[in-house]
Amino acid sequence: MAQQYFHTPFPPWTTGTLDIHHIDTGCGSCTFILGPDGTTILIDCGEDDSVKHSAAGATRAGHRVVHYIKRHGANRTNGAISALDYIIATHVHPDHVSGLRDVDEILPAAKVIDRGYPDYKEPVNVPLLPLPFAKDYIAWLDELQQTRPGTVETIDVGSDSQIRLTNAVRGEYPTFSMRTIAGNGCVWTGVETKSVQYLSDETYDAVEDHVRPDENKCSMAFLLSYGNFRYYTGGDLTFDTHDGRHPWLDIETPVAQAAGCVDVAVANHHGYFDACGPLFVEHLDADAYIIPAWHDTHPGMAQLQRLLGDWPGGGHKKTKVFATGMTATSNRINERFLRGMASTRGHIVVRVDPGGDSYRIFVLDVENDDQDVLDTNPSGLSDLAGGEAACHGSCNSHDSLIGQYGPYLSKSKQRLAEKEG
Ligand SMILES: [Zn+2]
Ligand SMILES: [Zn+2]
Repeated sequence: MAQQYFHTPFPPWTTGTLDIHHIDTGCGSCTFILGPDGTTILIDCGEDDSVKHSAAGATRAGHRVVHYIKRHGANRTNGAISALDYIIATHVHPDHVSGLRDVDEILPAAKVIDRGYPDYKEPVNVPLLPLPFAKDYIAWLDELQQTRPGTVETIDVGSDSQIRLTNAVRGEYPTFSMRTIAGNGCVWTGVETKSVQYLSDETYDAVEDHVRPDENKCSMAFLLSYGNFRYYTGGDLTFDTHDGRHPWLDIETPVAQAAGCVDVAVANHHGYFDACGPLFVEHLDADAYIIPAWHDTHPGMAQLQRLLGDWPGGGHKKTKVFATGMTATSNRINERFLRGMASTRGHIVVRVDPGGDSYRIFVLDVENDDQDVLDTNPSGLSDLAGGEAACHGSCNSHDSLIGQYGPYLSKSKQRLAEKEG
């Protein structure tokens, strides 16, 4: 059956709307947030170091991201974006930080938020990997401190004021907040701005080297709220305890518990085998999950099945699952679950309507520079709300899955109240 494509331009952002773009870089995570007042926040920008250091000709992820932001971002007077309010590095791995300098050189950030510059010893001593990418990253932060003093800030876990709307006129968008709920193994308690140090030097000192928490477990996590809409993202946090042998390694569960119910969640650690455990989905209870996939191992099969709620026998909550860039190998490995996915490739944009009561999810074509929405089934994609398969025709074709989903009502606050009540 021939696929029919309907090219619909992606509607531009307007004031009051919250856009969360999960950009498919092909080599790591990258999220661009455009707040209701035009505040710009970039969380991570990975880069493939072999591309970065290769001869001219290869397009660098940071430059592609700049192009993307200039195309889809706008300030509140509808002017082009020429700078960023925040750059956030969730943790220091190349698929999260190695493209940040390229972005900042063209769109300089007013604040760069990092987990523990310069020595990464407080509040827990997890040294950076002794590798060139980490040296490059630190060199960039050093330069920022020299040329733009005060730009680099250390994450303040529990705070909902470190990252805020910078263009809002007093009193505008009072229901918007972006709270840091984890970082450096410290987790928000859910009470005011208080947090507890979950991973500590004492824990580390008591265990052998090979089961000490690593860089991934120091990832920052955020809870973003706008009206009734709630959204979770948590870098490369993991839960794997080696079948219960090393329980302190599960940092993911307390963080998901601190977040509580959300409407949309990003899969931790690209949906890799050591993340997105049973309690991750139980606590977050999201209606949609986004997997920042870029490697053959993203996502793990069990993780994908769990995120989809796709167990035999029914009785499980069905969700919408989107991935940014599943590879051909990953598609083969995960073949039995692809039919239940909303999309396996594309830039995934969560667009929250003014006030936050409803949201839509757009999948933008990564091959097409115009970034149009390709709607393969204009009459009925909203049937996804009932958990029906989104794939019409051959699921082997990435393009056949690209489209527009929603609008959906933001229901997480209601779920949260029911759970707590
Ligand atoms: Zn990663
Ligand atoms: Zn990582």
